[in-house]
Amino acid sequence: MATGERIMFRGGKVWDGRADSAVEADLLVEDGVVRAVDRGGLSAVGEALEIDASGGTMIPGMIEAHGHLSFPVVTYAYHIEDTPPEETVLITMHNAKRLIDAGFTGVIGAGSPRIRSEIVIRNEIDAGLIAGPRLMASTPTLTATGGLNDSGQLHQQRLVAALVCDGPDEIRRAVRLCYREGVDVVKLNISGDDFFPRPDGRVTTMAEDEVAMACAMARELGLLVAAHARSAESVKRAVRCGVTIIHHADFCDEEALDMLEGAKDRIFVTPSIGYYHGLIHYSGMSDEMLAGMKVREGMDANIATHKALHERGVRMLIGGDYGLPFMPNGLNAQDVAHLVDYIGLTPVEALRAATWHGGLAMGKGTGLLVEGAPADLLLCNGDPTQDAAIVADAAKLRVIMKGGRLHKAPDGLRAAVAGAA
Ligand SMILES: [Zn+2]
Repeated sequence: MATGERIMFRGGKVWDGRADSAVEADLLVEDGVVRAVDRGGLSAVGEALEIDASGGTMIPGMIEAHGHLSFPVVTYAYHIEDTPPEETVLITMHNAKRLIDAGFTGVIGAGSPRIRSEIVIRNEIDAGLIAGPRLMASTPTLTATGGLNDSGQLHQQRLVAALVCDGPDEIRRAVRLCYREGVDVVKLNISGDDFFPRPDGRVTTMAEDEVAMACAMARELGLLVAAHARSAESVKRAVRCGVTIIHHADFCDEEALDMLEGAKDRIFVTPSIGYYHGLIHYSGMSDEMLAGMKVREGMDANIATHKALHERGVRMLIGGDYGLPFMPNGLNAQDVAHLVDYIGLTPVEALRAATWHGGLAMGKGTGLLVEGAPADLLLCNGDPTQDAAIVADAAKLRVIMKGGRLHKAPDGLRAAVAGAA
C-alpha cells in the first residue's frame, strides 16, 4: 500500500488488545496507522480499499517475545553452533517469513547464535526487501564459562553459539560490541537448563555483578534486557538488577514470587510452557529420556509458578522456545492456547499476553488497535476472544497487516475497491 492509501474493514468485530471482549466496529487504516475505529460504522471516508470483515474479528498482530528465528532444525547436540553464519542468516530470513505468515507482526529475539544474523534480517525487513515481523535483534546469549550455551571443551576449538563472558568487564565489552553492531536486545543466560546434564535449571551460573553490569550498560545504551532464568536465585538476580523480560522462571520460591510481584510494573514473564508441551508430545523422546531431563518435574514447577504469578497480576508474554525441532518456528501461536489450558488464563488474558503486553515490552506502540497505533493487525475468522486456538490456525487468518501493508489479503480483494464512485 502506498502512502496515503486507505483500507477500510467493514462489518466485522474489533478487539483492541485490552478490552474484555470484541465489539462490532468498522476500522480504517490510513498512512500505516489505525485512523479510526467506530462502533456505529464509518460512513463515507473517500476513496478506500474495502475489506469485508463480516464473520471475522480484527485483533492486533501477535508478538513473539522469545524468538529463536536463527535456530536451524536441530538434528544433533551442536547443530546450532556448527551452522555457518551464512546459513544462519538464511535460516533467520526463512523463519521471519514463517512468523509473519503465522500472524506475528513483532518478534523480540532471545539469543542469536551469531551477532549479526538477526540484525541484517531486521534491516532487510525494515527496508521492505523481505517479508517478516518487526524484529528486535538479539545478542548471542551472554553466558558465563560453563553456563548454558557454552558448549566449548578444552580439547577442541568450537565457535560456540554464545558470547562467553566472565566478570563485569567482559560483560560490559560484550554489550558494547553488540550495541556497536546494531542489536536491540541483550539476552543473558543467568541459570542452566534441564535440556543439558549441567548446569541444570536449578543452577545459577551468572554472578550478580555480571547481571548488574549487563543491565546497567543496556540501560545507558537504550537496549532491552531479556534473561533465561529457571532457578529461583536467577530470577531474583534478574529482578534486582533490572531485567525486563524473564523467560521460564520455573523454580521460583516464595521470595522470588514476591519479588516478581513487587516489580510487576516493570517486568514481564514468558512462561514458555510450549517447550514442555513440545518435549512431552512431539519430541519422540522415551519416558526414560524425559525422566532423565526431569521434564514433568520442570513442567509442574513452571505451571505452579505461573499460576501464582497470574494471580498476583504479573504480566505475561507468549513465546515457548519455538525453533526446536519438535516445535518448529511457525507454531508459535499455540502458546496462546497453552496459557489458557495450562496456566488458567481466559482467552482474552492470553491474547493480551500475545498482543498488548508484547507491544509494551517492545516499546514501539504496537499491540493495540486504537486510533493512532501502527496498523499491525489480523482479521481472524470467528472470534479468538472466545476461542484462543483460532490464532494458531493460519488458515483462519484472512488478513495479516503490518504497518498498514497487507502481507496477506483475502482473495479477489482488488475487485472490492470501493468509495470512488
Ligand atoms: Zn529460549
